Amino acid sequence: MKIKCLGAIRTVTGSCYQLENPQGGYTLIDCGIFQGGRQTELRNFNTALYKPAETKAIVITHAHMDHSGLVPRLVKAGYSGPIYATEATRDLLPILWQDAAHIQELEAQWKSRKNSRQGAKAVEPLYREEDAEAAAKLLRPLKLDREEGILPGLTVTCLTAGHILGAASLRLAVGEDGGTKTVTFSGDIGRVGQLLIKDPEIPPPSDVIFMETTYGNRLHKDLGNTIDELVGIINQAYREGGKIIIPTFAVERTQELLVLLAQAWHENKIPRDIPIILDSPLAISASEVYLAHPELYDAETVELARLGHGPMSVGTLRVTRTGEESQKINSINGPAIIMAGSGMANAGRVLHHFKHNLWRPNCHVIFVGFQAQGTTGRRLVEGAKSVKIFREEVLAKAKIHTLGGFSGHADQSELLTWLAPQIHPNLLVVLTHGEESGTLAFQAKLAELHPELNTLVPRWLDVLDVPSQPMALPVALPAAVRPALAETALTETSLAESWLPEAESFGRRLGRLRDGLAGRQEPLSPEKLALLEDLLSRAEEIALSR
Ligand SMILES: [Zn+2]
Ligand SMILES: [Zn+2]
Repeated sequence: MKIKCLGAIRTVTGSCYQLENPQGGYTLIDCGIFQGGRQTELRNFNTALYKPAETKAIVITHAHMDHSGLVPRLVKAGYSGPIYATEATRDLLPILWQDAAHIQELEAQWKSRKNSRQGAKAVEPLYREEDAEAAAKLLRPLKLDREEGILPGLTVTCLTAGHILGAASLRLAVGEDGGTKTVTFSGDIGRVGQLLIKDPEIPPPSDVIFMETTYGNRLHKDLGNTIDELVGIINQAYREGGKIIIPTFAVERTQELLVLLAQAWHENKIPRDIPIILDSPLAISASEVYLAHPELYDAETVELARLGHGPMSVGTLRVTRTGEESQKINSINGPAIIMAGSGMANAGRVLHHFKHNLWRPNCHVIFVGFQAQGTTGRRLVEGAKSVKIFREEVLAKAKIHTLGGFSGHADQSELLTWLAPQIHPNLLVVLTHGEESGTLAFQAKLAELHPELNTLVPRWLDVLDVPSQPMALPVALPAAVRPALAETALTETSLAESWLPEAESFGRRLGRLRDGLAGRQEPLSPEKLALLEDLLSRAEEIALSR
Protein backbone atom coordinates (compact mmCIF):
# COMPACT_ATOMS: atom_id res chain seq x y z
CA MET A 1 0.00 0.00 0.00
CA LYS A 2 1.53 3.30 -1.11
CA ILE A 3 0.41 6.69 0.16
CA LYS A 4 1.85 9.99 -1.04
CA CYS A 5 1.72 13.00 1.28
CA LEU A 6 0.45 15.94 -0.77
CA GLY A 7 -0.42 18.36 2.02
CA ALA A 8 -0.72 19.31 5.70
CA ILE A 9 2.82 18.02 6.12
CA ARG A 10 4.77 20.02 8.69
CA THR A 11 2.07 22.66 8.26
CA VAL A 12 -1.67 22.90 8.94
CA THR A 13 -3.19 23.55 5.53
CA GLY A 14 -3.58 21.71 2.22
CA SER A 15 -4.56 18.33 3.72
CA CYS A 16 -4.32 15.63 1.03
CA TYR A 17 -3.13 12.03 0.85
CA GLN A 18 -2.90 10.11 -2.42
CA LEU A 19 -3.51 6.39 -2.00
CA GLU A 20 -2.61 3.91 -4.75
CA ASN A 21 -5.72 1.83 -5.38
CA PRO A 22 -5.45 -1.98 -5.30
CA GLN A 23 -6.82 -2.13 -8.88
CA GLY A 24 -4.98 0.88 -10.28
CA GLY A 25 -5.41 4.63 -10.19
CA TYR A 26 -5.59 6.74 -7.04
CA THR A 27 -7.93 7.73 -4.23
CA LEU A 28 -7.48 11.11 -2.57
CA ILE A 29 -8.16 11.42 1.14
CA ASP A 30 -9.06 15.10 1.54
CA CYS A 31 -8.10 17.73 -1.00
CA GLY A 32 -7.56 20.94 0.90
CA ILE A 33 -6.41 24.37 -0.07
CA PHE A 34 -3.02 25.74 1.07
CA GLN A 35 -3.21 29.03 2.97
CA GLY A 36 -0.59 31.39 4.32
CA GLY A 37 2.08 33.03 2.20
CA ARG A 38 2.64 33.27 -1.51
CA GLN A 39 5.10 30.36 -1.83
CA THR A 40 2.76 28.02 0.01
CA GLU A 41 -0.31 29.13 -1.91
CA LEU A 42 1.40 28.48 -5.26
CA ARG A 43 1.01 24.80 -4.44
CA ASN A 44 -2.73 25.24 -5.05
CA PHE A 45 -1.92 25.63 -8.75
CA ASN A 46 0.16 22.42 -8.99
CA THR A 47 -2.87 20.50 -10.24
CA ALA A 48 -0.81 17.92 -12.17
CA LEU A 49 0.54 16.62 -8.88
CA TYR A 50 -2.97 15.49 -7.88
CA LYS A 51 -3.37 13.45 -11.11
CA PRO A 52 -7.06 14.32 -11.63
CA ALA A 53 -7.38 12.04 -14.67
CA GLU A 54 -6.04 8.97 -12.83
CA THR A 55 -7.98 9.60 -9.62
CA LYS A 56 -10.93 7.25 -9.17
CA ALA A 57 -12.42 8.60 -5.93
CA ILE A 58 -12.07 11.44 -3.44
CA VAL A 59 -13.07 11.04 0.21
CA ILE A 60 -13.40 14.16 2.39
CA THR A 61 -13.09 14.09 6.20
CA HIS A 62 -14.89 17.40 6.81
CA ALA A 63 -16.08 20.60 5.19
CA HIS A 64 -13.27 22.99 6.22
CA MET A 65 -11.51 24.48 3.20
CA ASP A 66 -8.07 23.26 4.29
CA HIS A 67 -9.47 19.73 3.79
CA SER A 68 -11.85 20.23 0.85
CA GLY A 69 -11.11 23.55 -0.84
CA LEU A 70 -9.10 22.25 -3.82
CA VAL A 71 -11.79 19.81 -5.01
CA PRO A 72 -13.45 22.29 -7.43
CA ARG A 73 -9.99 22.95 -8.91
CA LEU A 74 -9.61 19.24 -9.67
CA VAL A 75 -13.09 19.15 -11.16
CA LYS A 76 -12.12 22.14 -13.32
CA ALA A 77 -9.09 20.08 -14.43
CA GLY A 78 -11.29 17.15 -15.47
CA TYR A 79 -11.97 15.05 -12.38
CA SER A 80 -15.45 13.55 -12.72
CA GLY A 81 -15.51 10.65 -10.25
CA PRO A 82 -17.42 10.42 -6.98
CA ILE A 83 -16.66 12.66 -3.98
CA TYR A 84 -17.56 10.84 -0.77
CA ALA A 85 -18.37 12.54 2.55
CA THR A 86 -20.77 12.13 5.47
CA GLU A 87 -24.31 13.47 4.96
CA ALA A 88 -23.75 16.68 6.95
CA THR A 89 -20.45 17.36 5.15
CA ARG A 90 -22.25 16.73 1.86
CA ASP A 91 -24.73 19.46 2.89
CA LEU A 92 -22.07 21.97 4.02
CA LEU A 93 -19.65 21.59 1.11
CA PRO A 94 -21.72 23.19 -1.69
CA ILE A 95 -22.26 26.32 0.45
CA LEU A 96 -18.57 26.64 1.35
CA TRP A 97 -17.28 25.85 -2.15
CA GLN A 98 -19.64 28.44 -3.65
CA ASP A 99 -18.37 31.05 -1.19
CA ALA A 100 -14.72 30.14 -1.84
CA ALA A 101 -15.24 30.32 -5.62
CA HIS A 102 -16.85 33.72 -5.27
CA ILE A 103 -13.85 35.01 -3.30
CA GLN A 104 -11.40 33.47 -5.82
CA GLU A 105 -13.20 35.24 -8.66
CA LEU A 106 -13.20 38.59 -6.88
CA GLU A 107 -9.50 38.29 -6.07
CA ALA A 108 -8.65 37.34 -9.66
CA GLN A 109 -10.65 40.33 -10.97
CA TRP A 110 -8.82 42.64 -8.60
CA LYS A 111 -5.42 41.26 -9.61
CA SER A 112 -6.33 41.40 -13.31
CA ARG A 113 -7.29 45.06 -13.04
CA LYS A 114 -4.03 45.79 -11.28
CA ASN A 115 -2.08 43.82 -13.91
CA SER A 116 -3.77 45.56 -16.82
CA ARG A 117 -2.68 48.93 -15.42
CA GLN A 118 0.89 47.61 -15.54
CA GLY A 119 0.55 45.96 -18.94
CA ALA A 120 0.62 42.45 -17.45
CA LYS A 121 -1.64 39.48 -18.20
CA ALA A 122 -5.10 38.88 -16.71
CA VAL A 123 -5.27 36.40 -13.83
CA GLU A 124 -7.43 33.25 -13.94
CA PRO A 125 -9.06 32.34 -10.60
CA LEU A 126 -8.17 29.00 -8.99
CA TYR A 127 -11.75 28.03 -9.82
CA ARG A 128 -15.09 29.64 -10.56
CA GLU A 129 -18.61 29.28 -9.20
CA GLU A 130 -19.50 26.91 -12.05
CA ASP A 131 -16.66 24.57 -10.98
CA ALA A 132 -17.99 24.63 -7.41
CA GLU A 133 -21.41 23.73 -8.77
CA ALA A 134 -20.00 20.88 -10.86
CA ALA A 135 -18.11 19.55 -7.82
CA ALA A 136 -21.30 19.63 -5.72
CA LYS A 137 -23.00 17.36 -8.28
CA LEU A 138 -20.34 14.67 -7.68
CA LEU A 139 -20.96 14.43 -3.91
CA ARG A 140 -22.03 11.00 -2.59
CA PRO A 141 -23.08 10.60 1.06
CA LEU A 142 -21.58 7.98 3.38
CA LYS A 143 -23.33 6.79 6.55
CA LEU A 144 -21.46 7.04 9.85
CA ASP A 145 -20.11 3.86 11.47
CA ARG A 146 -20.78 1.71 8.41
CA GLU A 147 -18.11 0.06 6.26
CA GLU A 148 -18.88 1.02 2.68
CA GLY A 149 -17.17 -0.25 -0.48
CA ILE A 150 -16.13 2.60 -2.75
CA LEU A 151 -13.83 0.83 -5.22
CA PRO A 152 -12.83 -2.81 -5.85
CA GLY A 153 -10.71 -3.86 -2.85
CA LEU A 154 -11.26 -0.57 -0.98
CA THR A 155 -13.75 0.18 1.82
CA VAL A 156 -14.23 3.27 3.99
CA THR A 157 -15.76 3.59 7.47
CA CYS A 158 -16.62 7.09 8.73
CA LEU A 159 -16.32 7.60 12.50
CA THR A 160 -17.41 10.72 14.39
CA ALA A 161 -14.41 13.05 14.80
CA GLY A 162 -16.20 15.63 17.00
CA HIS A 163 -14.54 18.59 15.25
CA ILE A 164 -17.36 20.29 13.30
CA LEU A 165 -20.77 19.03 12.20
CA GLY A 166 -20.27 15.97 9.99
CA ALA A 167 -16.52 15.72 10.61
CA ALA A 168 -15.24 12.15 10.40
CA SER A 169 -12.15 10.10 10.92
CA LEU A 170 -11.82 7.68 8.01
CA ARG A 171 -10.75 4.06 8.39
CA LEU A 172 -9.82 2.50 5.05
CA ALA A 173 -9.40 -1.22 4.43
CA VAL A 174 -7.25 -1.92 1.39
CA GLY A 175 -7.10 -5.40 -0.15
CA GLU A 176 -3.57 -6.32 -1.15
CA ASP A 177 -1.66 -9.58 -1.94
CA GLY A 178 -4.52 -11.70 -0.64
CA GLY A 179 -4.56 -9.81 2.68
CA THR A 180 -5.99 -6.55 3.94
CA LYS A 181 -4.21 -3.47 5.25
CA THR A 182 -6.04 -0.88 7.30
CA VAL A 183 -5.21 2.79 7.55
CA THR A 184 -6.98 5.44 9.63
CA PHE A 185 -6.95 9.12 8.69
CA SER A 186 -7.86 11.04 11.83
CA GLY A 187 -9.08 14.15 9.99
CA ASP A 188 -9.29 16.98 12.53
CA ILE A 189 -9.98 15.59 16.01
CA GLY A 190 -12.38 17.55 18.21
CA ARG A 191 -12.50 18.05 21.96
CA VAL A 192 -14.20 15.84 24.50
CA GLY A 193 -17.18 17.61 26.11
CA GLN A 194 -17.31 20.48 23.61
CA LEU A 195 -20.54 22.26 22.81
CA LEU A 196 -23.20 21.10 20.40
CA ILE A 197 -21.81 18.00 18.68
CA LYS A 198 -20.89 14.52 19.87
CA ASP A 199 -17.46 13.67 21.26
CA PRO A 200 -14.81 12.06 19.03
CA GLU A 201 -15.20 8.33 18.55
CA ILE A 202 -12.09 6.17 18.92
CA PRO A 203 -11.53 4.09 15.78
CA PRO A 204 -10.69 0.38 16.01
CA PRO A 205 -6.94 -0.35 15.66
CA SER A 206 -5.32 -0.09 12.20
CA ASP A 207 -1.92 -0.85 10.66
CA VAL A 208 -1.21 2.84 10.07
CA ILE A 209 -2.72 6.03 11.50
CA PHE A 210 -2.32 9.44 9.89
CA MET A 211 -2.92 11.74 12.82
CA GLU A 212 -3.41 15.48 13.13
CA THR A 213 -1.23 17.35 15.65
CA THR A 214 -2.49 20.97 15.43
CA TYR A 215 -2.18 21.41 19.19
CA GLY A 216 0.46 18.72 19.71
CA ASN A 217 2.30 20.95 22.18
CA ARG A 218 -0.57 22.83 23.86
CA LEU A 219 -3.24 22.43 26.52
CA HIS A 220 -6.54 24.32 26.22
CA LYS A 221 -8.27 26.56 28.72
CA ASP A 222 -11.45 25.40 30.42
CA LEU A 223 -14.68 26.21 28.54
CA GLY A 224 -16.60 26.87 31.80
CA ASN A 225 -14.67 30.07 32.55
CA THR A 226 -15.11 31.18 28.94
CA ILE A 227 -18.90 31.04 29.25
CA ASP A 228 -18.84 33.11 32.47
CA GLU A 229 -16.56 35.64 30.77
CA LEU A 230 -18.88 35.92 27.76
CA VAL A 231 -21.92 36.52 30.00
CA GLY A 232 -19.94 39.11 31.99
CA ILE A 233 -18.93 41.08 28.89
CA ILE A 234 -22.49 41.10 27.51
CA ASN A 235 -23.92 42.44 30.78
CA GLN A 236 -21.22 45.11 31.07
CA ALA A 237 -21.80 46.32 27.49
CA TYR A 238 -25.55 46.37 28.12
CA ARG A 239 -25.08 48.62 31.15
CA GLU A 240 -22.81 50.90 29.12
CA GLY A 241 -25.23 50.96 26.19
CA GLY A 242 -22.58 49.73 23.74
CA LYS A 243 -22.50 47.22 20.92
CA ILE A 244 -20.88 43.79 21.26
CA ILE A 245 -19.20 42.78 18.03
CA ILE A 246 -18.12 39.17 17.63
CA PRO A 247 -16.06 38.47 14.49
CA THR A 248 -17.02 34.89 13.90
CA PHE A 249 -16.21 31.82 11.84
CA ALA A 250 -19.21 30.65 9.82
CA VAL A 251 -19.07 26.95 10.62
CA GLU A 252 -19.18 25.55 14.17
CA ARG A 253 -17.99 28.60 16.17
CA THR A 254 -21.10 30.60 15.18
CA GLN A 255 -23.39 27.71 16.09
CA GLU A 256 -21.56 27.13 19.39
CA LEU A 257 -22.07 30.81 20.23
CA LEU A 258 -25.73 30.50 19.31
CA VAL A 259 -26.08 27.56 21.72
CA LEU A 260 -24.35 29.48 24.52
CA LEU A 261 -26.38 32.64 23.92
CA ALA A 262 -29.63 30.64 23.82
CA GLN A 263 -28.78 28.93 27.10
CA ALA A 264 -27.81 32.21 28.81
CA TRP A 265 -30.91 33.97 27.45
CA HIS A 266 -33.35 31.25 28.57
CA GLU A 267 -31.70 31.16 32.00
CA ASN A 268 -31.98 34.98 32.28
CA LYS A 269 -28.21 35.37 32.58
CA ILE A 270 -28.20 38.03 29.86
CA PRO A 271 -30.80 40.80 29.28
CA ARG A 272 -34.02 39.48 27.75
CA ASP A 273 -34.37 42.44 25.38
CA ILE A 274 -30.87 42.57 23.91
CA PRO A 275 -31.02 42.12 20.12
CA ILE A 276 -28.79 39.30 18.81
CA ILE A 277 -27.97 39.63 15.13
CA LEU A 278 -26.36 37.06 12.89
CA ASP A 279 -25.02 39.17 10.02
CA SER A 280 -23.35 36.64 7.72
CA PRO A 281 -25.08 34.88 4.81
CA LEU A 282 -22.52 32.06 5.00
CA ALA A 283 -23.02 31.53 8.74
CA ILE A 284 -26.81 31.66 8.30
CA SER A 285 -26.69 28.94 5.63
CA ALA A 286 -24.30 26.85 7.73
CA SER A 287 -26.61 27.24 10.75
CA GLU A 288 -29.49 25.89 8.67
CA VAL A 289 -27.44 22.77 7.96
CA TYR A 290 -26.83 22.42 11.72
CA LEU A 291 -30.57 22.68 12.37
CA ALA A 292 -31.18 19.97 9.76
CA HIS A 293 -28.91 17.48 11.56
CA PRO A 294 -30.09 17.14 15.17
CA GLU A 295 -29.00 13.47 15.04
CA LEU A 296 -25.41 14.73 15.38
CA TYR A 297 -26.01 16.79 18.55
CA ASP A 298 -24.63 15.65 21.89
CA ALA A 299 -27.01 14.64 24.69
CA GLU A 300 -26.93 18.11 26.29
CA THR A 301 -27.92 19.89 23.08
CA VAL A 302 -30.64 17.30 22.39
CA GLU A 303 -32.08 18.09 25.84
CA LEU A 304 -31.86 21.87 25.24
CA ALA A 305 -33.59 21.46 21.87
CA ARG A 306 -36.32 19.38 23.57
CA LEU A 307 -36.94 22.25 26.00
CA GLY A 308 -37.22 24.65 23.08
CA HIS A 309 -33.84 26.17 23.96
CA GLY A 310 -32.03 25.01 20.81
CA PRO A 311 -29.26 26.83 18.91
CA MET A 312 -31.49 29.46 17.24
CA SER A 313 -34.30 29.75 19.79
CA VAL A 314 -33.54 33.21 21.26
CA GLY A 315 -36.62 35.43 20.89
CA THR A 316 -34.50 38.47 19.96
CA LEU A 317 -32.38 36.67 17.32
CA ARG A 318 -32.40 38.22 13.86
CA VAL A 319 -30.61 36.98 10.77
CA THR A 320 -29.64 39.45 8.05
CA ARG A 321 -28.92 37.88 4.71
CA THR A 322 -29.08 40.83 2.30
CA GLY A 323 -26.76 43.84 2.25
CA GLU A 324 -29.75 46.10 2.79
CA GLU A 325 -30.79 44.28 5.98
CA SER A 326 -27.19 44.38 7.12
CA GLN A 327 -26.95 48.16 6.69
CA LYS A 328 -30.06 48.68 8.84
CA ILE A 329 -28.12 47.29 11.83
CA ASN A 330 -26.23 50.63 11.96
CA SER A 331 -29.41 52.41 12.93
CA ILE A 332 -30.00 50.30 16.06
CA ASN A 333 -29.59 52.58 19.08
CA GLY A 334 -28.27 51.08 22.29
CA PRO A 335 -26.79 47.68 22.99
CA ALA A 336 -26.87 44.72 20.59
CA ILE A 337 -24.83 41.58 19.98
CA ILE A 338 -23.61 41.45 16.38
CA MET A 339 -21.98 38.33 14.98
CA ALA A 340 -20.41 38.81 11.56
CA GLY A 341 -17.62 37.36 9.40
CA SER A 342 -14.82 37.08 8.93
CA GLY A 343 -13.49 35.52 12.10
CA MET A 344 -10.13 37.30 11.82
CA ALA A 345 -11.72 40.57 10.67
CA ASN A 346 -9.60 40.70 7.51
CA ALA A 347 -12.68 40.91 5.26
CA GLY A 348 -16.45 40.68 5.34
CA ARG A 349 -19.29 42.55 6.99
CA VAL A 350 -17.63 42.75 10.39
CA LEU A 351 -15.49 45.56 8.95
CA HIS A 352 -18.59 47.73 8.45
CA HIS A 353 -19.50 47.22 12.10
CA PHE A 354 -15.94 48.11 13.11
CA LYS A 355 -16.14 51.30 11.08
CA HIS A 356 -19.32 52.31 12.89
CA ASN A 357 -18.36 51.21 16.41
CA LEU A 358 -14.67 50.48 16.99
CA TRP A 359 -13.94 54.12 17.93
CA ARG A 360 -16.64 54.12 20.65
CA PRO A 361 -15.30 53.45 24.16
CA ASN A 362 -18.51 51.58 25.14
CA CYS A 363 -18.14 49.09 22.29
CA HIS A 364 -16.85 45.59 23.12
CA VAL A 365 -15.17 43.33 20.55
CA ILE A 366 -14.89 39.64 21.37
CA PHE A 367 -12.48 37.43 19.42
CA VAL A 368 -13.39 33.76 19.66
CA GLY A 369 -10.65 32.07 17.67
CA PHE A 370 -7.07 32.13 16.47
CA GLN A 371 -6.00 35.44 14.87
CA ALA A 372 -3.33 34.93 12.20
CA GLN A 373 -0.39 37.23 11.67
CA GLY A 374 -1.20 40.16 9.39
CA THR A 375 -4.96 40.27 10.06
CA THR A 376 -6.89 43.21 11.53
CA GLY A 377 -7.97 40.87 14.33
CA ARG A 378 -4.36 40.15 15.26
CA ARG A 379 -3.48 43.87 15.31
CA LEU A 380 -6.41 44.63 17.64
CA VAL A 381 -5.60 41.71 19.94
CA GLU A 382 -2.01 43.00 20.12
CA GLY A 383 -3.29 46.39 21.28
CA ALA A 384 -3.21 48.60 18.16
CA LYS A 385 -4.46 52.13 18.89
CA SER A 386 -6.06 52.36 15.45
CA VAL A 387 -6.55 50.13 12.40
CA LYS A 388 -7.13 50.79 8.72
CA ILE A 389 -10.66 49.92 7.59
CA PHE A 390 -11.69 50.57 3.98
CA ARG A 391 -8.66 52.89 3.51
CA GLU A 392 -9.64 54.91 6.58
CA GLU A 393 -7.75 54.94 9.88
CA VAL A 394 -10.28 54.11 12.64
CA LEU A 395 -9.43 54.57 16.32
CA ALA A 396 -9.65 51.41 18.40
CA LYS A 397 -11.19 52.72 21.62
CA ALA A 398 -13.46 49.69 22.04
CA LYS A 399 -12.59 47.12 24.68
CA ILE A 400 -10.96 44.12 23.02
CA HIS A 401 -11.54 40.67 24.55
CA THR A 402 -10.18 37.28 23.57
CA LEU A 403 -12.09 34.21 24.70
CA GLY A 404 -9.59 31.38 24.71
CA GLY A 405 -11.78 28.43 25.70
CA PHE A 406 -13.20 27.75 22.24
CA SER A 407 -11.34 25.33 20.06
CA GLY A 408 -12.39 22.80 17.49
CA HIS A 409 -9.19 20.84 18.00
CA ALA A 410 -8.14 18.36 20.65
CA ASP A 411 -5.17 19.52 22.73
CA GLN A 412 -2.11 17.43 23.51
CA SER A 413 -3.72 15.39 26.29
CA GLU A 414 -6.90 14.83 24.26
CA LEU A 415 -4.83 13.69 21.26
CA LEU A 416 -3.01 11.21 23.50
CA THR A 417 -6.34 9.94 24.88
CA TRP A 418 -7.64 9.45 21.34
CA LEU A 419 -4.55 7.53 20.24
CA ALA A 420 -3.84 5.34 23.30
CA PRO A 421 -6.55 2.66 22.75
CA GLN A 422 -5.40 2.22 19.13
CA ILE A 423 -1.78 1.43 19.97
CA HIS A 424 -0.43 -2.07 19.24
CA PRO A 425 3.10 -3.41 18.63
CA ASN A 426 3.02 -3.12 14.82
CA LEU A 427 1.35 0.24 14.57
CA LEU A 428 2.90 3.09 12.58
CA VAL A 429 1.69 6.59 13.48
CA VAL A 430 2.30 9.26 10.85
CA LEU A 431 2.09 12.72 12.40
CA THR A 432 0.72 15.49 10.19
CA HIS A 433 -1.44 18.66 10.18
CA GLY A 434 0.57 20.79 12.60
CA GLU A 435 3.23 23.46 12.58
CA GLU A 436 6.54 21.59 12.52
CA SER A 437 7.46 22.52 16.11
CA GLY A 438 4.11 21.31 17.48
CA THR A 439 4.26 18.06 15.55
CA LEU A 440 7.84 17.30 16.64
CA ALA A 441 6.93 18.11 20.25
CA PHE A 442 4.06 15.64 20.04
CA GLN A 443 6.39 13.02 18.55
CA ALA A 444 8.77 13.55 21.47
CA LYS A 445 5.88 13.21 23.92
CA LEU A 446 4.86 9.93 22.29
CA ALA A 447 8.45 8.64 22.45
CA GLU A 448 8.45 9.41 26.17
CA LEU A 449 5.09 7.75 26.90
CA HIS A 450 5.25 4.88 24.39
CA PRO A 451 8.94 4.17 23.68
CA GLU A 452 8.07 1.14 21.49
CA LEU A 453 5.71 3.03 19.20
CA ASN A 454 6.81 3.70 15.61
CA THR A 455 6.17 7.29 14.65
CA LEU A 456 7.06 9.27 11.56
CA VAL A 457 6.90 12.93 10.63
CA PRO A 458 7.01 12.89 6.82
CA ARG A 459 8.01 15.64 4.44
CA TRP A 460 5.96 17.05 1.61
CA LEU A 461 5.69 14.58 -1.33
CA ASP A 462 7.10 11.67 0.68
CA VAL A 463 5.67 8.34 -0.41
CA LEU A 464 4.94 5.95 2.40
CA ASP A 465 5.14 2.29 1.51
CA VAL A 466 3.33 -0.01 3.92
CA PRO A 467 4.48 -3.52 3.02
CA SER A 468 2.58 -6.66 4.02
CA GLN A 469 5.72 -7.91 5.76
CA PRO A 470 7.49 -6.34 8.77
CA MET A 471 7.90 -2.67 8.09
CA ALA A 472 11.17 -1.11 7.03
CA LEU A 473 10.80 2.20 8.73
CA PRO A 474 12.24 5.36 7.24
CA VAL A 475 12.53 6.78 10.78
CA ALA A 476 15.70 4.78 11.33
CA LEU A 477 17.56 6.72 8.63
CA PRO A 478 20.34 9.14 9.51
CA ALA A 479 19.25 12.75 9.19
CA ALA A 480 21.41 13.40 6.14
CA VAL A 481 19.44 11.09 3.87
CA ARG A 482 16.00 12.44 4.73
CA PRO A 483 14.35 13.48 1.48
CA ALA A 484 14.41 17.20 2.13
CA LEU A 485 15.62 17.74 -1.42
CA ALA A 486 12.37 16.79 -3.07
CA GLU A 487 10.46 19.36 -1.07
CA THR A 488 12.92 22.16 -1.58
CA ALA A 489 13.26 21.59 -5.30
CA LEU A 490 9.51 21.62 -5.82
CA THR A 491 8.74 24.57 -3.61
CA GLU A 492 11.36 26.67 -5.29
CA THR A 493 10.14 25.87 -8.77
CA SER A 494 6.40 25.60 -8.38
CA LEU A 495 6.06 28.81 -10.40
CA ALA A 496 6.85 26.92 -13.57
CA GLU A 497 4.63 23.88 -13.99
CA SER A 498 6.81 22.76 -16.90
CA TRP A 499 9.63 22.06 -14.50
CA LEU A 500 7.47 19.75 -12.41
CA PRO A 501 8.07 16.45 -14.28
CA GLU A 502 11.84 16.77 -13.82
CA ALA A 503 11.51 17.79 -10.19
CA GLU A 504 9.13 14.89 -9.63
CA SER A 505 11.55 12.46 -11.23
CA PHE A 506 14.31 13.66 -8.87
CA GLY A 507 11.86 13.16 -6.03
CA ARG A 508 11.20 9.58 -7.18
CA ARG A 509 14.92 8.83 -7.37
CA LEU A 510 15.37 10.14 -3.86
CA GLY A 511 12.50 7.93 -2.79
CA ARG A 512 14.29 4.91 -4.29
CA LEU A 513 17.46 5.96 -2.49
CA ARG A 514 15.60 6.08 0.78
CA ASP A 515 13.83 2.75 0.17
CA GLY A 516 17.17 1.14 -0.73
CA LEU A 517 18.74 2.37 2.47
CA ALA A 518 15.77 1.39 4.60
CA GLY A 519 15.74 -2.10 3.08
CA ARG A 520 19.44 -2.83 3.82
CA GLN A 521 20.20 -5.72 6.15
CA GLU A 522 23.15 -3.89 7.70
CA PRO A 523 24.25 -0.25 7.80
CA LEU A 524 26.63 1.21 5.19
CA SER A 525 30.32 1.21 6.02
CA PRO A 526 31.53 4.49 7.59
CA GLU A 527 33.44 5.35 4.36
CA LYS A 528 30.40 4.83 2.14
CA LEU A 529 28.18 6.73 4.58
CA ALA A 530 30.59 9.68 4.54
CA LEU A 531 30.67 9.64 0.73
CA LEU A 532 26.88 9.58 0.57
CA GLU A 533 26.57 12.44 3.02
CA ASP A 534 29.03 14.44 0.95
CA LEU A 535 27.15 13.79 -2.30
CA LEU A 536 23.82 14.65 -0.73
CA SER A 537 24.98 17.91 0.74
CA ARG A 538 26.37 18.86 -2.70
CA ALA A 539 23.03 17.95 -4.25
CA GLU A 540 21.27 20.04 -1.63
CA GLU A 541 23.52 22.98 -2.46
CA ILE A 542 22.63 22.74 -6.15
CA ALA A 543 18.91 22.42 -5.49
CA LEU A 544 18.86 25.38 -3.13
CA SER A 545 21.04 27.69 -5.23
CA ARG A 546 19.36 30.54 -7.07
ZN1 LIG B 1 -10.99 21.44 10.38
ZN1 LIG C 1 -7.70 21.05 9.44
